[in-house]
Amino acid sequence: MADCLFCGIVSGDVPAQRVAETARALAFRDINPQAPTHVLVVPKEHYRDLAALAAAGDGLLGEVAALAHKIAADEGVSEPGYRVVFNTGPQAGQTVFHAHAHLLGGRPLGWPPG
Ligand code: AMP
Ligand code: ZN
Repeated sequence: MADCLFCGIVSGDVPAQRVAETARALAFRDINPQAPTHVLVVPKEHYRDLAALAAAGDGLLGEVAALAHKIAADEGVSEPGYRVVFNTGPQAGQTVFHAHAHLLGGRPLGWPPG
């Protein structure tokens, strides 16, 4: 999709620190990390938010979630615990409207979130 930052990262037009990928999902480091491990996992195709990604079906949302877990395991944060967050909509703090899972780990994470 034109003018989408994360579509630009998927295509390679926008540089990013890539971590891992599957056929339909890409993971890269957040440019403004909020934890020692802060990775974004996106579907390579454009969906504006979690609702659209969930509606896509065909296991795509599961592929995104499974990749987030694999990276948590690979980075050694899965045992103490980690968080996967989809900010959805402006009130939840979504600023980039290409669906993405935040994988956060490597430090204690407070609850409830802000
Ligand atoms: P959200 O606020 O949930 O939409 O998350 C968007 C995230 O994208 C924020 O955590 C930003 O720090 C991150 N971000 C913005 N631009 C880039 C970029 N060029 N590369 C990697 N992460 C980015
Ligand atoms: Zn996009």
